[in-house]
Amino acid sequence: MAESKDYYQILGVSKDATADDLKKAYRKLAKQYHPDAQHTEADKKNAEAKFKEINEAYSVLSDDTKRAQYDRFGSNFEQAGFGGGSYGSYGGFGGFDGFGMDIDLEDILGSVFGGGFSSSRKSSGPTKGADIRTTLNLKFEEAAFGVKKEINITRNEKCDTCNGSGAKPGSKIITCDKCGGRGKIQVTQNTIMGSFSTVRTCDKCSGSGKVIQTPCEKCSGKGTVRKNRKIEINVPAGIDNGQAIPLRGEGDAGLKGGPNGDIYVVVKVGSHKYFRREGYDIFANVRVPFAKMVLGGDIKIPTLEGEMEFSIPEGTSSGTKFRVKDQGIPILNGKGRGVLEFVVDVDVPKKLNDEQRELLKKFAQSFGDEVNVKKKSIFDDIKSKFN
Ligand SMILES: [Zn+2]
Ligand SMILES: [Zn+2]
Repeated sequence: MAESKDYYQILGVSKDATADDLKKAYRKLAKQYHPDAQHTEADKKNAEAKFKEINEAYSVLSDDTKRAQYDRFGSNFEQAGFGGGSYGSYGGFGGFDGFGMDIDLEDILGSVFGGGFSSSRKSSGPTKGADIRTTLNLKFEEAAFGVKKEINITRNEKCDTCNGSGAKPGSKIITCDKCGGRGKIQVTQNTIMGSFSTVRTCDKCSGSGKVIQTPCEKCSGKGTVRKNRKIEINVPAGIDNGQAIPLRGEGDAGLKGGPNGDIYVVVKVGSHKYFRREGYDIFANVRVPFAKMVLGGDIKIPTLEGEMEFSIPEGTSSGTKFRVKDQGIPILNGKGRGVLEFVVDVDVPKKLNDEQRELLKKFAQSFGDEVNVKKKSIFDDIKSKFN
C-alpha cells in the first residue's frame, strides 16, 4: 500500500486552511509547475509529477466531504474502505482523468495564464510554428571570413490548397456536434462515492467549438504540409564554434494565422592546420632555423590569408612570443580583427654533414665551450679529423 500523502504539506498550507487559502496556494503552485513554464525536458518531467501531486491534493482538500474523509483516513483509500486508488488520478497534462475532479481547471487557470489550460498543447487559437535547429559544418577560414551556404531542411508549410484552414475548398465549417459548440465536455463518472463530473476540453474540436465538415485532401485537415527546402544563408565573418545563426520566420508554419517558427543554424567549426582559435585571436607555433634565431632577420609566418614576412631580433630564444595586430579573426558584426600570436621554436638540424659539424664545433669552441659528442662513432670521426 502506498504511503499516505500529506496533502496539506504538498500545497504548503496549514491544516485549518480555508477554501480561499487552498485556492491561492493551488494557483501559485500550478503556475510554478505549469508545463509551459519549464525550459528543459527534465524540468517538464519533474513538473509533471509535481503537478499531479498538487492536483490530487487540491481536488481532495477543496471538497469538504473528501477533506473530512482525508483528515480521518489519510490518502490511502483501502484503509478507509473506498476500494483502492487514490483520489483524483490525473491523466497527464492533456486533461483530467478519473473521478473526484469536480473542478474546471481551465476556469481556475484561465485567469492565471490568460488562456485555456488543458488545451494549451493543441490550442484552438493562433499558434506559433515550431523552431527548427540544424547544424552547419564550416571550415576554419569560412567561419573567419564568412561564406554563403545552403542548408537543406524539412518543414511544415502552409497548405496552399486550403490556405491553411484545413477545410476542403468550398466545404463548410460547422458547429462541433460533440460539444454542441461549447468547446468543453462534461464527463460524469459514477463511483461508490457518488457521481462526479469533470469538465474537459472537447477533443473533437480542440476547444474551438467548430469542426471542418470535409477536411482538405492534400493536408488531411492539418492545414500544413511537409516540404523539403534549400535555404541560402549568409554566414557572417567571425562566427565561432557553437554559435547559432537565427533565420526568423523560416521554421514551421504557424497554425490558424499564428507566426512561423524560426530556424537556428548552429555552426560547427573545423580545425586549422596551423592555428588554434580563442575568441578572435589565433595562435600558432613557428619553427625557425637555429642560425636565424641567433642572427635575427626575416622569417616567414603563416597567416589566415597565406604567409607574411616577419622580422625577429638577433638572439631570439626558443619560446619567445610575438604578436601581430589585425591578423586574427574579423570581429563578428564589428570592425577590425583579433591578434595573431606565434611562438618561435628553434629548428635544430637533425643531420649535419662533416663540414657543417666542423663549423659548428669551431663556433662552439670560439666561445670556449667544450664540445661533448655522445655518439662514439661521431666522436671518433671528429677526433680523426682533428688529429
Ligand atoms: Zn490543406
Ligand atoms: Zn467540440
